[in-house]
Amino acid sequence: MNRANTKVGFVSLGCPKNLVDSEVMMGILSREGYELTPHAAEAEILVVNTCSFIESAQKESVDTILEMAEHKKFGAAKKLIVAGCLVERYRNQILEQVPEVDAVVGTGEVERIIEAVEGDLKVLPAEPPAFLYHDLTPRIVTTPKHAAYIKIAEGCDHPCSFCIIPQLRGKFRSRRFESVVKEAENLAAAGAREVTLIGQDTTSYGEDLGLRDGLAKLLSRLAEINELAWVRFLYAYPNRVTQGLLDALAAHPRLVKYMDMPLQHASRNVLARMKRGANGDAFLKLLERIRKTIPGVSLRTSFIVGFPGETEADFEELCDFVRAAKLDWMGVFEYSDVDNAGSFPLDGKVDAETIAGRRDKLMAIQKKISRENLKRFKGQVVRALVEGESKENPLVWEARLEGMAPEIDGKLYLTDVELPGGEIATMGDMVRVEVEKADAYDLIGRVVEIEPRPVSKLQPAPIPAEALTRIATGAPLRVLG
Ligand code: SF4
Repeated sequence: MNRANTKVGFVSLGCPKNLVDSEVMMGILSREGYELTPHAAEAEILVVNTCSFIESAQKESVDTILEMAEHKKFGAAKKLIVAGCLVERYRNQILEQVPEVDAVVGTGEVERIIEAVEGDLKVLPAEPPAFLYHDLTPRIVTTPKHAAYIKIAEGCDHPCSFCIIPQLRGKFRSRRFESVVKEAENLAAAGAREVTLIGQDTTSYGEDLGLRDGLAKLLSRLAEINELAWVRFLYAYPNRVTQGLLDALAAHPRLVKYMDMPLQHASRNVLARMKRGANGDAFLKLLERIRKTIPGVSLRTSFIVGFPGETEADFEELCDFVRAAKLDWMGVFEYSDVDNAGSFPLDGKVDAETIAGRRDKLMAIQKKISRENLKRFKGQVVRALVEGESKENPLVWEARLEGMAPEIDGKLYLTDVELPGGEIATMGDMVRVEVEKADAYDLIGRVVEIEPRPVSKLQPAPIPAEALTRIATGAPLRVLG
């Protein structure tokens, strides 16, 4: 196989942590001379990086594999490789049941993608995943270059009974402190204005390295990178949120006043069955401490409704919690059985109709709260990061406030990006926006000032020239999830 003339296409499913794995596999193949293509029809090699967190995600992964298999039957594709979390569950079944699949690569085998592509590897024996990328690992950043994710840790040691991620991603393991800092500097030198730190549980960062308050220390160090406008982190675990972390967030203007902290439920009974502990009152006290330490902070969480044993009273307790908590952003998952999750054998299963009804009710409560919360921005001049043309409506541009995380929260739509003097805001600019309208989840405004870009003093990382060109064409076929 002549690498330089061989095109590879990636489909990346699931969460941003899986996206970083896709970007690492794309980086490795690009470094080895392969060309990346965003068009499935012209790819000789197709890689599907799968998700299998819950039933619906698994179904999406299987459907996508079968869709890509069609390209092998009738298109240019000569090889189909399946990677990611579905492999950790069904590595041999995938090969047996989908004959078009040539090889499978587990979540801990990302750096062996080249062997799969070149036929030296079909399937490896299942072992607890241990892989962790670092700042010298080739990686093709597929998000707009002004906003990149950094995976600071992998795996998880929490026993949440509804979750199989520890089985799919292995034990919790942190990346080295200096490696994360170096990667953030490289990304900033390459034009990133915002970096978002991710992991299954970012608040446990450094515990396995003997670091106390590791996330607070890491954030404070990243806050010194002048080329960055914003440093954000997602996936805080409630009982790992320390005062040191909150103080660090409050102390540095470059650390966004934003916290994403999945609570999953508020009823003591349900949280106990989820093996997560705590209760609604404890969470309200925590939210109060966060808001007291970080004035104006935006808070995001996610809940699961319909967990086995969730009574009407438990659900009403959750509704009352949401009314009292007045969160800024909220996601609600419908519980779905996963046969190797701790919750699978539990009694008290809730029927699908009731679960869907509870999800709708909780979202309706939050919609009112979100509309109320966003009203405070009307008539204000706020700082925002310009994201670019809106996918929904190319006539308007999109931006985000520091209280809005990429892809999961509301947006700020820009009706005008040109200043009276003719200067025009572009992707990655930090701007001041006068907010003219607030909806249930989004804001609308016009740019009134464009901040000058900082002059970078950082030395860009030594990325080989041809890899740079490949970056230009290298987006995944699509990112689903
Ligand atoms: S903390 Fe998150 S990833 Fe870890 S077991 Fe719980 S739900 Fe799963």
